[in-house]
Amino acid sequence: MDQVIIAGGGIGGLGAALMLARQGVAVRLLERAPAFGEVGAGLQLGPNITRMLDEAGVLEKILPLSVQPRRLVFLNAASGEELTHLDLADVRERYGAPYIVLHRSDLLQALLDAARAEPAITLHTGHQVTGVQDQGDHVVVRCANGAEYTGQLLIGADGLNSVVRKEIVDDEPICSGYVAYRGTMPISDAGPRAALDDVVVWMGPGLHLVQYPVRAGKLYNQVAVFRSREYLEGKQDWGTPEELDRTYSGMCEAVRTAIPSLQRNHRWPMYDREPVRNWSKGRITLLGDAAHPMLQYLAQGAGQALLDGAALAATLPPLGGAPWGGDALASALGGYQDLRVGFAGRVQSTARVWGDIWHVDEPVPTLLRDEVFRSRDIRDYHLVDWLYGTGAAVPAPAAV
Ligand code: FAD
Repeated sequence: MDQVIIAGGGIGGLGAALMLARQGVAVRLLERAPAFGEVGAGLQLGPNITRMLDEAGVLEKILPLSVQPRRLVFLNAASGEELTHLDLADVRERYGAPYIVLHRSDLLQALLDAARAEPAITLHTGHQVTGVQDQGDHVVVRCANGAEYTGQLLIGADGLNSVVRKEIVDDEPICSGYVAYRGTMPISDAGPRAALDDVVVWMGPGLHLVQYPVRAGKLYNQVAVFRSREYLEGKQDWGTPEELDRTYSGMCEAVRTAIPSLQRNHRWPMYDREPVRNWSKGRITLLGDAAHPMLQYLAQGAGQALLDGAALAATLPPLGGAPWGGDALASALGGYQDLRVGFAGRVQSTARVWGDIWHVDEPVPTLLRDEVFRSRDIRDYHLVDWLYGTGAAVPAPAAV
């Protein structure tokens, strides 16, 4: 019988497998795709995440592929005015860890390489989990290809549309009516931009555009997100490339010129779910987007998934190697939830509010937002202390 089975080999699942194995817990990971992989786009990791990755011995593997941007800059997408910024050297100083940006595949590959080097991890691709049965003293996991495994604990790390979540929570993803287009290009094609070493957030009516460099400065990443009128009109095929062009056509030149270089062959309608207070039932628990899918406006979804892995790696190993009794396991999962449920729920809820602020589209609220941003003291961190500060940390598993 396996100790832990993880369904899903994204950033959350692979990160958890690695952190658990390094604490002596044996893991079998089942990924449905024929190969491990991530979409071709970037990822921001705030200091609350890099601090934990550093303590877990993972940060050093990804730093050479990352960029530590100079500033996080907020601008009005219509007028082009710079409104405020966070000095990210100052952020590093304040929170004791860097703010980094990197390509998602680079992070996934680093986690995968480290996981492959751990004898306690067995990785499978082409294994889509389709059925789960908690038998009391073990859990049975069935895959579409006929494979069947038994374990002491199943962790659902199978993303927004998690099948494992259905065993625990009766809910559905909530469509925000927003859609994202994203992609990277060689930095040499990024054109003459003011700040290739900044994370730049352009906020406009019902839209935003985020730009930053990745892969040690070799690639430039862009994400355009907008509220789709076609969705509100009930069209089946909503958020089309034509709507993307129309939506950004009234923005300032720097934003307009960025739009044609976005990849158009794929788009991401944006969903989240309501926060829930319980992620576990018997021998099944959840992590990452399966537990707390969030809109990406705080750039925290993948980071929070990694924090879940760190929390599990702090609470499961004390159970030891013998078969895990139901009560002991329930208590360890209770400890995991105490560390994570409230905090991740707050990130989920705050991400929605942050999106509402970025996307205001009436003239007066827009004036007010811009004035609040403009008059902000750039050394004022009260809005992010709760997120980036050490109070938000999960005790990281010790590096091995
Ligand atoms: P996923 O990445 O969805 O991985 C789930 C894995 O499970 C996949 O590999 C999938 O193939 C597999 N799977 C699914 N079903 C099954 C099954 N039945 N059996 C087996 N395997 C299965 N987060 C940040 O931290 N910083 C950012 O800057 C950031 N920017 C974002 C920008 C955009 C536009 C979007 C949409 C999201 C962004 N996020 C960001 C959020 C982040 O992408 C997600 O929160 C993160 O990828 C969640 O990781 P996960 O491993 O939980 O789920």
